[in-house]
Amino acid sequence: MKNLLYIHGQGCGGDTISLLNAEEPDFALAMEMLDINIAWHPSLSVINGNEVLKVYNSFINGESKLDYFIIEGAVPTAPNGTGKIYESFNRPFIEWVRELAGVAEYTIAVGTCAVSGGISAASGNPTGASGAQFRRENIGGILNEEYRSGAGFPVVNIPGCPAHPDWVLETLYLLSQNKLSADQLDYANRPAQFYSSLAHHACPKNEYYEFKASAEELGQMGCLFENLGCRGTQCESDCNLRLWLGRTGSCTRAGYPCIACTSNNFPQTGARYFRTQTVGSIPEFLPRDVPKAWYIGITGLAKMATPDRLKKNAVSSHITKQNSTKKEQ
Ligand code: SF4
Ligand code: SF4
Repeated sequence: MKNLLYIHGQGCGGDTISLLNAEEPDFALAMEMLDINIAWHPSLSVINGNEVLKVYNSFINGESKLDYFIIEGAVPTAPNGTGKIYESFNRPFIEWVRELAGVAEYTIAVGTCAVSGGISAASGNPTGASGAQFRRENIGGILNEEYRSGAGFPVVNIPGCPAHPDWVLETLYLLSQNKLSADQLDYANRPAQFYSSLAHHACPKNEYYEFKASAEELGQMGCLFENLGCRGTQCESDCNLRLWLGRTGSCTRAGYPCIACTSNNFPQTGARYFRTQTVGSIPEFLPRDVPKAWYIGITGLAKMATPDRLKKNAVSSHITKQNSTKKEQ
């Protein structure tokens, strides 16, 4: 049986809530199937206080093997890198994290706060919140760039605000079966298969996007890129392919723009979410791999060709104009 220790730094606990929404299989069954013993989880375990300290020390002293060390939430480093702003068992939390990562076979950061600081490290925070091995886009968090776990991996990063439960459980499955190697992690040390497509892929608003038929308010049918700040064309995640919540939904399916929550620089300093920032009339953030001149040309042509059906439906909460059923002459 493999041991899993799950700790929680600065964050809302949303990744745990997300994990408990796993369905295929659910979290408890997944742990059973993967033969994982949860040595401690702050929300799910009944032990607390000194019993938790014993668990920490059993791993640090080598009495038990720490197979999976999962970090949720950012780690505070203030003041001056000491982390004394947050102590746990009379010791800065940062020191526990470093020591436990030092004996773990795999260290896994779940959620954008744990990966790169996330919302906990948003501009103006006084706690020095840091990700495990990244600070925002820069490698080197509370663990340095050279850190490698017992199995020779850097911190395996599973960003998302929250992370999709599949991304976490499938990573544990792949690691347990030796089906994920360190060179299958991407440039941000994420399992590439979850982050190599864009949130835009399989978004049901793609037809609106192609014709630049844009929503003007949240909840409308049209594409959310032009007016409402959707970052799905730049954001690396398989949200619209995989789907959430019983494989029924995603942010954009609910009429809500993708805010690129899997990016290391989320939340973006100075960004105005839910409103597209423009330079002149050109969106500041253009779709990945589309040069500005192309975007301007394609947009102009697409708008000239937008079917009336899409123009009307784009600014409605439901389809008001159906496709013509008359046979074309
Ligand atoms: S709403 Fe966003 S993800 Fe969907 S088609 Fe438009 S730009 Fe792409
Ligand atoms: S669609 Fe974008 S904002 Fe929504 S969960 Fe996926 S990556 Fe995050």
